[in-house]
Amino acid sequence: MNTKEIIAQYDKYVIKTYTRTPVVIVKGKGLKVWDLEGNEYLDFFPGWAVSGLGHCHPIVVNAVRNYIKKIIHVPNNYYNMLQGKLAQKIVENSFEGKAFFCNSGAEANEAAIKLVRAYGSQNGKYEIITFKDSFHGRTLATITATGQGKYQKGFEPLPLGFKTVPFNDIKAVESAMTDKTAGIMLELIQGEGGINVASDAYVKKIREICDKKDLALVFDEVQTGMGRTGKMFAFEHYGVEPDVMTLAKSLGGGLPIGAMVAAKKFEEVLKPGMHASTFGGSPIACSASLAVFEAIKKEKLLSNTREMGEYLVGKLSELKKKKSIIKEIRGKGLMLGVELNIEGKDIVEACFKERLLINCTHDSVLRFMPGVIVTKKQIDKAIEILDKVMK
Ligand SMILES: *Cc1c(COP(=O)(O)O)cnc(C)c1O
Repeated sequence: MNTKEIIAQYDKYVIKTYTRTPVVIVKGKGLKVWDLEGNEYLDFFPGWAVSGLGHCHPIVVNAVRNYIKKIIHVPNNYYNMLQGKLAQKIVENSFEGKAFFCNSGAEANEAAIKLVRAYGSQNGKYEIITFKDSFHGRTLATITATGQGKYQKGFEPLPLGFKTVPFNDIKAVESAMTDKTAGIMLELIQGEGGINVASDAYVKKIREICDKKDLALVFDEVQTGMGRTGKMFAFEHYGVEPDVMTLAKSLGGGLPIGAMVAAKKFEEVLKPGMHASTFGGSPIACSASLAVFEAIKKEKLLSNTREMGEYLVGKLSELKKKKSIIKEIRGKGLMLGVELNIEGKDIVEACFKERLLINCTHDSVLRFMPGVIVTKKQIDKAIEILDKVMK
C-alpha cells in the first residue's frame, strides 16, 4: 500500500480523533525517521518525548528483544522478574516510597487522584487543586484536572472535586483552599500549556502549604520525567520532593508504560483490591524502562541534555535577534518552547516540508523536545531550517 491508500484506510476505519500530518512513518533511528516514500526527517519532537532517547535506542531494543522470547505478559496476581526491579530503580532515582504501574500518563494521574482521595477520605476531604493551562490526560477525571476548557467541552457532567486556579500565583492557591482540600496537582513545567516553568519560590511555598495542611502534593512528571529537563526528574531543580509523582511518556523508551510513585507516608494508602491495571508493569514494558535508566547512566545523557539544552537555547537566542516574530524562549534542559507573536502552525508545516519535525502548542509556542542523545550538528541543522522558514 502507498501513502494515499493507507490514509484512505484510516479515513474509512479509524475514528478521527487526531489531526494527522499526511505522512506514514515506517522507520526510526536516533533523531531520524523515514516515511514510506523514503524521505528522511530530523525529529525534534519524538512523540511528545515518548522516544526520549531517540528512536529505537539499541539498549532498549536489545532488552526488549531478549525478554520477549521468554514471556510477554505476566498477570498481576503473580510476580514477574522485572516489576520490582523497575520500582526500585525509580525509587532510588527519586525519593523513598513505592510505585504502581499502568500504561499511560492519564492512568498514572488517575491512580494519583484515587490515592489523594483515598487519603483525604479519612478526614472527609476530597478536593484537588489544579492549574490553568495544565494537562493531565484524556480520561474524565484527568480532563477535569486539566485546566483547559477545550478538553472538557461536550463531556459534561464532569466529576466533582476539582478546582482550577492560575499557575504561578500562590495567593490563588491559598484562596482556593477549603476544609475539603485533599491535594494539589501540578506540572513543574506545563508542557501542553506552552512550556510554562513554575517558579522556585512558588513550588517551595506549595510544598510548605501541603506540609502544614496535610495535603498530598502531586507532581505530574509525565512529560518532564526521565532526564528531559537535564535532571532525571524536574522536581530535582527545585529541591522540593512531591508526595506523589506520575510518569509515562519516555519512561518506556517508546513502549507504553506509566507509573505512579508514592512517598513513604502515602505508600500504604492503596490496599489490595483498591486499584489495578491488567497490563500494568508487564515484563516487556519494564525491560524497556530499565534499559532507559541504563542508557541514561551509561551514555551520560543527563549532562548531554544540559549541555545540548544550553547550546540550543544559545542558538535560539541568536535567532531571536534576527527574527521579530520570536517573543520569548522558555524551558529547562531539552524541554524548550519558543513563543511567537504569531500562530505557529505555518512554521511547523514549513519545517515539515524541510524535513524537520517540531510541534506547536497553545497556538503560538513552538516546542522542541529532541531525543536526549541530540548532537550539536543536529541542532545546527534544525536551526538552519528554522532560520530559513522564518522569513
Ligand atoms: C501527555 C501527558 C499526559 C497524558 O499522558 P497519556 O499517556 O497521553 O495518557 C499527562 N500529563 C502530562 C503532563 C502529559 O504531558
